[in-house]
Parts: sequence; C-alpha cells; structure tokens
Amino acid sequence: MRLIETEGLTKVYQREGRWFPSANDAMPVVDRVSLHVDKGETLGLVGESGSGKSTLARLLLGLETATEGHLLFGGEDVTRWGFKRLRTIRSRMQMVFQNSYSSFDPLFTVERIVGEPLSSYGGMAALERRRVILESLDMVGLEAPYAKRYPHELSGGQLQRVNIARALVLQPELLICDEPFSSLDFKLRRQILTLLEELKVRFGLSYLYITHDLSSVSRFCDRVAVMYKGQIVETLPAARIAEEAIHPYTRSLLDAVPVQDPRLRRSRTGRPFGEPALSQGERVTQGCRFCSRCPAAMPVCFTVEPVLETKRPSHQAACHFYANEAEGKASQTFQIVKE
Ligand code: SF4
Repeated sequence: MRLIETEGLTKVYQREGRWFPSANDAMPVVDRVSLHVDKGETLGLVGESGSGKSTLARLLLGLETATEGHLLFGGEDVTRWGFKRLRTIRSRMQMVFQNSYSSFDPLFTVERIVGEPLSSYGGMAALERRRVILESLDMVGLEAPYAKRYPHELSGGQLQRVNIARALVLQPELLICDEPFSSLDFKLRRQILTLLEELKVRFGLSYLYITHDLSSVSRFCDRVAVMYKGQIVETLPAARIAEEAIHPYTRSLLDAVPVQDPRLRRSRTGRPFGEPALSQGERVTQGCRFCSRCPAAMPVCFTVEPVLETKRPSHQAACHFYANEAEGKASQTFQIVKE
C-alpha cells in the first residue's frame, strides 16, 4: 500500500542576480520525479552531491513548494495544501539529519532537544511529555540519565541516537534519513543501521534513505532509486543492484564502491566512469543528461532525452543503450561489467 507518492514532481529555481531572467536561467533541481514509498518499505535514494536528493526530501516534507507535479500522502493529493493543513501530515513524516551536532542547540539538554517536536505540536502535560521523551530515548538505547546531558557530553553515535529519538517522538510513519551515517565511523554506522532495522520491524516504519554510498543500500533497502541531475535514471530491487543495474551512471556509482582489487573499478573502455567530458560552465540542454560523461553514449543520446521505462519486472531505467542492447545492437565500445 502506497504511503507517499510523487507524480512528475518538479522544483525549478531561477538563477540569482539577473535583472531580466530568461528561460535559460531556470534551473530544474528536481525534474519530473515519479516515485513512491510503500508502507513498511525502505527506499534508497542514491546519487552524487548536488543531484537533487535533499531538495526532493524537502518537497516530500512540505518544506519546499513544488513548481509542477503532485505529491500524494496516504492516497490524498497534498500538493497544494496550505501550511496549517500540511502540519497534520508533517507529524507523520520526520527527518533524521546528517549532522547531529550542528542540528542541535548546544545550550539545550537532550530532554529538551528530543521534546522539541512535542512543543511544536503542543497539547501534552509535563509528566506525560517527560514519559514520552524517556520512552523515545529508551527506543534508541539511551537510558534516562542521558536526558540531562548536553550535546557536547555525547559521542557521535549517541548524538545520532538522540537525532533518531527526536524523529520518533511524534510516532511517525515515514522517516526520511538524509545521509544519517556521514559523520560516523564504520563501527558506529553498523550500530545505527541495526537500530534503524530494529525500529522498522518493531513499529512498521517506512524509510526514505538518502545516500551517495551504495555499499549500505543492498543491506538496508528494499528498493533503490538512482538520481542524476534532478531526474530518476534507474529504479530496481536493492538486493539485485550489483548484478542487474544497467544504467551507466548506476554502474559508475557501483565502480566507486571500494573493492579489494582497484582494477575492478574501471570499465572495459579503460576510462573510469564519471569523468566529466564538458568544460566548466557548459551544460547539457538536450538529450541525455549523462551523455557528456557516458562511455556508451551514441549519437541519439545527444539529441533525444531517454525516458524512464520498465526494462524487466520491478526494474526501470532511462537509457537508450539498454534499448539497443535488448534489440541485439549493443555498442562495441561499451559492455556492462558484472563483477
Ligand atoms: Fe549513456 Fe546514452 Fe544511456 Fe545516456 S542514454 S546513459 S548517454 S547510453
């Protein structure tokens, strides 16, 4: 059952500092994105920095207004809802921020930090409020004495647990986790990942897990959506991403995952994926947005924009090359490397 869904969601910003902006000054940061998260599902949203992942998260949370398209929550179109009405669904979606320390007021105790969302929504007696805060801390493995501590007295892992406790205090249905492990070492990442998995099973939570790190996706997510320059270029079951991803951009991200033998990172073209071919300031205005970096690019890629199509069950990709491959006309200059 669909919990949240977007249909052609678009966010366009205008370049600043222009007196008379033209159509070329419009920058679509999120461009015609259609995706969904089912109840109890974890969707991984993967892409490089600047690909539009965080803007998409802000659109889902109602913190940005969409330029075009639709946002549905629980089957209801909430795209044009006003601020007051949106508050009623915002408590059902919460965000886990990437840098816990900078998102906390250093003068607030843990109890006050975790209780902030309760203050925003009000209507709770002091005793009840304290009970809910302590329960939220308990859910993330922090005992009652931590409630009196300040952020500087906590380790990185404990801060991230407080971050999650704050997100849980309103009993949301969807947690949007934006690079939740970026400031943690490998051991702490595993601990927080395990905690999120336990919470999902216990409370039937859904997650939108935003990351540029593909190594954690196959373990934690049910499905993955790959985003490039504001568009979704591939979606498929996370467990099959290493073997079955076909889009050259997804393959380039997979190549960037650390492996024991560095030679395995390179494509058979002898050129690492993701090497920009455009000089600074140039941008692709038609065709595939990845064509300047793609070792499989064909003439059609520079003129015709590929659309996201179903290539096999539960697997969509936006790539002309795959269409050719399916017809038995695969390019000689590019082969998909299956490690
Ligand atoms: Fe590469 Fe063409 Fe596919 Fe774009 S459409 S990813 S340029 S092969």
